[in-house]
Amino acid sequence: MIDLTNCTLCPHRCSVNREQQQLGFCRLDAGLHIANISLHTGEEPIEGSENGVCNVFFSHCNLRCCYCQNYQISQPQSVIRNEITDYEVAVNQIVAILQSGVKFLGFVSPTSHIPQMLLIIEKVHEKGFSPKIIYNTNGYENVETLRSLEGTVDIYLPDLKYANDSLAQRLSGIPNYCETALSAIKEMYRQKKEVISDENPALIIRHLALPNNVDNSLRVLRLIAEECSTNVFISLMSQYFPVYKALNDNEICRTLTKDEYDVVLDELDSLGFERGWTQELESNDYYQPDFNKDNPFAID
Ligand code: SF4
Repeated sequence: MIDLTNCTLCPHRCSVNREQQQLGFCRLDAGLHIANISLHTGEEPIEGSENGVCNVFFSHCNLRCCYCQNYQISQPQSVIRNEITDYEVAVNQIVAILQSGVKFLGFVSPTSHIPQMLLIIEKVHEKGFSPKIIYNTNGYENVETLRSLEGTVDIYLPDLKYANDSLAQRLSGIPNYCETALSAIKEMYRQKKEVISDENPALIIRHLALPNNVDNSLRVLRLIAEECSTNVFISLMSQYFPVYKALNDNEICRTLTKDEYDVVLDELDSLGFERGWTQELESNDYYQPDFNKDNPFAID
């Protein structure tokens, strides 16, 4: 089903032949394109992840968010410093991290890289390691592609960014994000609903609250409650910090206020979500990756 000679992996359905260097919306050929592999403590303290998560950051993305915190590696024009294009190099780096006792292997922005991700998992298994697999996605996914991952992914970590298509179009350049991402999350829930428990956060839905957009956040939470379940884990993030094109956008060129975040927190509570994590408002000071460094998350 996964066929890069006629790529329909994600909802853009470009139908390009990536094996012959035809480029679709994501601008990716059929090769391996990893921007960084590093140990990351992550925003969600999942049980068993005390030693951190080995995160594989794929380059380029199938969204065009004007506020992307990873814009140095996610955009079509991104020039990736020290890009990893060799499977052996990638797997050796992953194994070196897993050998230190890390039990989770996270793939960040994997949507356009699923065949490459599956090959890496296979090679890591061949080396004798069986980490739990985290699939960390912006939510813009095809349901049939996700079905092919059933049994491979241990923890789905999707965003639900918007409940408003015009906002999605304006900020992420995508016309049909809401219905598409919601369908994807429903499929993830179908796969994981029997195993979600306090000890096993098999589906963690992330939402980044944006300044001047409290209504969007409230609607996102209501959509999850009404269309999916309040049984899932929610990671409600306040860490927004304007970077990239957002610096010139009057609506989102500032951080979130306490009043804005409190309104969203109240809704989370009143809808009955009991699993997950919220953040301190000061979080925006701590999550500024710089992919021009060897360790993008090192704090100077
Ligand atoms: S993965 Fe890339 S080429 Fe394939 S459908 Fe999505 S954007 Fe298009």
